[in-house]
Amino acid sequence: MTTPAANPPQALTAQERAARSARSAAVAERLSANGVTMIALCWVDNTGVTRVKAIPAGRLERVAGWGAGMSPVFDVFLIDDSITSSAHIGGPDGDLRLLPDLDQVTELAGQPGWAWAPVDRYTQDGKEYAGCQRSFARRMAGLAAARGLEFRMSFEIEWTVGTEADASFVPACTGPAYGMTRVIELSDYCREVVTALEREGVVVEQFHPEYAAGQLEVSVAPAGPVGAADLTALARQTIRAVSARYGWQASFAPSVVAGGVGNGAHLHVSMWRDGRNLFAGGPGRHGLTADGEAFAGGALSALPALAGIGMPSVASYLRLVPSHWAGAYQCWGLENREAALRLVTGSAGERDTRANLEIKCFDGAANPYLVTGSLIAAGLAGLDEGASLPPEVQGDPAGLAAPELASRGVRRLPQSLDEAIGQLAGSGLLRKALGDALFEAILAVRRGEAALFAGASADEVAARTRWRW
Ligand code: MG
Repeated sequence: MTTPAANPPQALTAQERAARSARSAAVAERLSANGVTMIALCWVDNTGVTRVKAIPAGRLERVAGWGAGMSPVFDVFLIDDSITSSAHIGGPDGDLRLLPDLDQVTELAGQPGWAWAPVDRYTQDGKEYAGCQRSFARRMAGLAAARGLEFRMSFEIEWTVGTEADASFVPACTGPAYGMTRVIELSDYCREVVTALEREGVVVEQFHPEYAAGQLEVSVAPAGPVGAADLTALARQTIRAVSARYGWQASFAPSVVAGGVGNGAHLHVSMWRDGRNLFAGGPGRHGLTADGEAFAGGALSALPALAGIGMPSVASYLRLVPSHWAGAYQCWGLENREAALRLVTGSAGERDTRANLEIKCFDGAANPYLVTGSLIAAGLAGLDEGASLPPEVQGDPAGLAAPELASRGVRRLPQSLDEAIGQLAGSGLLRKALGDALFEAILAVRRGEAALFAGASADEVAARTRWRW
C-alpha cells in the first residue's frame, strides 16, 4: 500500500501555546456566564472506555496552552482496570499533557455546572503523542484530504437502559421491540435524552426503541471523522448522565444479556470530492462511482483485521452472530441488514446527498476514533489498489449453504477475539497507519483481555462487562 506514513509531529511553539491560552478566554467567559465551574477533559482509551481528568473552569487558560498531566499507562488498561504492558507503552514512568480542543468545549446538559472537552494528548516536549487515538483519526482524515477526499460520518448510538438485580440485567421498560409502549413507559426519559443532546448542539435526527429489552437508539447528524467520534463520545456521556437521574444505568456494551441482541455502533460513511458524493450518481452498481467502489472494496477486504479495532472485546463476539442484524459476514449488499457492509442509497431524488455505506459490524466497545481512522486507512488502500466489490449478497447469508457462500467469497468475520487478534496482528496496513506504538498497545490490550476472559462462560462475560461501556 502506498498510503504515506504520517510526517513526524512538530512540537508546539511558545506562540502556539500562547495563542491557545488567549483563545480560551472567550470560552471561559461563556462557561462562567452559564454557571459552569468544572470541565471534564476526556479521551477514549484502547478498550473503548472514556477516561477523564477534570479541572476547575478557572484553570482553562493554563490548561489550554500547557495541558493537564496524565500517565500514558492508560493506553494499556484492560476493561477491568487491570494493566498490561506493550512494546512501547506501559509501566509507571512518563507523563502526557491533555490539551482540550477549544472548539468543542460543550456545556453538559445532563450534568449542570459541568462542561466537556475532548482532548488531544501531547508529550511533555509538546509533540503529538504517538498513542493518541484522536490525533490518529485526524491524521487519517488529513491523508484523505490531501487526496481531495472528505468524509461525512455518523455512529448510530444504541444503548440498553435499566438496572441490575441478583447479577441479572433488569430493563427499565417492558414494552415490545420498536414499540410505542416503551416510549410511553419512558416518556419523560426519552424526551429528556433528546432535549439534553439538542441543548449540547448535537443534531438528533431520530430516536426509536430498539429490539432488545430496554434497548433504545438515537441517530445523530454526520460530521467529519474526528467530529463524529467526538459526537458519539459526548452523546454517550449525556445519555449516561440522564439515565443516572432516573436511577438507571445505560449500557453501550456489545452484549448486555448473553444470547440476546447486543448494542451495535454502526458507522455510516459517505465520501466526497469537490462537493460530490462518491457513493451516488456513478456508473457502477446502485450508482457507485469507481472511487466509491474502491473505497468500499478496501474496507470490505480489511474487515477481518478491522475486527480487532471495531469489535474489540471478548463480549463483541457474543453479539457478532448471524441473523441478529449485527453484520457477521464479510459481504456487502444493498440495504442488507445482515451484510457487514450495507449500501444505503436513500430515496430517489436525494441519492446524491444521502447515499452512504453503513458498516454494521462495529460495536459499542470500540474506540470511535480508532474506528474512523482505521476505516479511512483501509478505504484509501482500496483506492490505491483500485479495489472492486465482489457480487453483492441479498438476504441472510446464514441461509446460504457453505458451497454457495464459498463460491461468492463470503466468509464469517472473526468469531472470537482470539481470531480477531490474529487478523489484526497480521495487518501491515493497520500497523503502518496506526504506527508501532499505538498498534502494539492495542494488540497488547486485546491479548490481555482474551487472557482475562479465557474459560469464562458467555453469561459471565456479559455480566462482567455489561456496565463497563
Ligand atoms: Mg439499531
